[in-house]
Amino acid sequence: MSETYVSKEKLPGIVEQLMGTHRVFGPILKGQYHQFALLEESADLDLAFRNTRLSPKALFHPHSERMFEFTLEKGNPDAGILKEVPKDYRSRIVLGIRPCDAYAFKLDDRNFITDQFKDPWWVQRRESTTLVGLACNDPCSTCFCTSAGSGPFDTSSLDVLLVDLGEGYLLQAVTHKGEQLMGDLAGGESVPEHCTEQAAALKQSAEAQLGIQFNLDPVKQKSMVELFDAPFWEDVQFSCINCGTCTFLCPTCWCFDIQDEVYQSRGERIRIWDSCMFPLFTLHGAGHNPRDQKLKRVRQRFMHKLKYYPDKYADGIACVGCGRCVQHCPVNIDIRQVARLMAESCVCPV
Ligand code: SF4
Ligand code: SF4
Repeated sequence: MSETYVSKEKLPGIVEQLMGTHRVFGPILKGQYHQFALLEESADLDLAFRNTRLSPKALFHPHSERMFEFTLEKGNPDAGILKEVPKDYRSRIVLGIRPCDAYAFKLDDRNFITDQFKDPWWVQRRESTTLVGLACNDPCSTCFCTSAGSGPFDTSSLDVLLVDLGEGYLLQAVTHKGEQLMGDLAGGESVPEHCTEQAAALKQSAEAQLGIQFNLDPVKQKSMVELFDAPFWEDVQFSCINCGTCTFLCPTCWCFDIQDEVYQSRGERIRIWDSCMFPLFTLHGAGHNPRDQKLKRVRQRFMHKLKYYPDKYADGIACVGCGRCVQHCPVNIDIRQVARLMAESCVCPV
């Protein structure tokens, strides 16, 4: 793994250089919140953030996306034929992504890339993107990545890791793609003495701040039916207003709906995010709705992340501990507390 050092005053120059060869996305302050967006100029990049309100999943799975277009014009030989809407797959860099958000893409890959099918748009966006992460020196009180298989300095899904050392950044290449990117950079300096040790100390301190906030081992031993029927779901669901905020902010919620929108003789097939918290999500064409009550929808979200997914893949949960749903749920429902309830609940035989 190669390392280089960039002092903070040289960063804008490096970003300009990258913008000459790639489309560069990064956190930009928009109103009150930081949000990942295309940089128009290097000064747009603002790395002084803790976590963005919206996760960067929209860079790979847009909130609303035109998939195909078609015409219904009478006499047109192409009438009714779906034509793919062109998309931009030029190479790009996502700069300043948090390690947990990058790790989320690895979990999302399981939905978009399977043995049976591959989502071509997801695949091409993944392939054309280099992920340059920013380590979390000072995690939020709502973060729990260390309890969810990731960590504040986790490099498992990054190409390059940046560590903020105060006066400058330590850049560590993780993958071949990352090595190539760093090799092309002019302006990097040799790593000053003690920087690697300083980064290791920051990692240790951030991990210690986070600790381990719940243990889901007992959930693995419990049967799905036992948890499904547990009485605590009544309490968990009580204050939920099914607003869908948790799912829209979540980097590992990938559900979408596909709709045809037609105006006069032209139409578009679009896909848009959907949420298991919405009552219509499971409404069947025949009128039956298997999740017709709030309790069933709330239970589904947590059971999917903390029981169904771990049972299916046996290597972690469908959550990366970014804490967004904890921070922004309007009624303070906390997935960490639900995880503890699931682990501690005892449905004892009478
Ligand atoms: S953000 Fe909170 S209130 Fe809204 S759907 Fe999610 S759990 Fe319910
Ligand atoms: S469930 Fe909550 S904490 Fe976990 S990845 Fe989604 S938004 Fe982040």
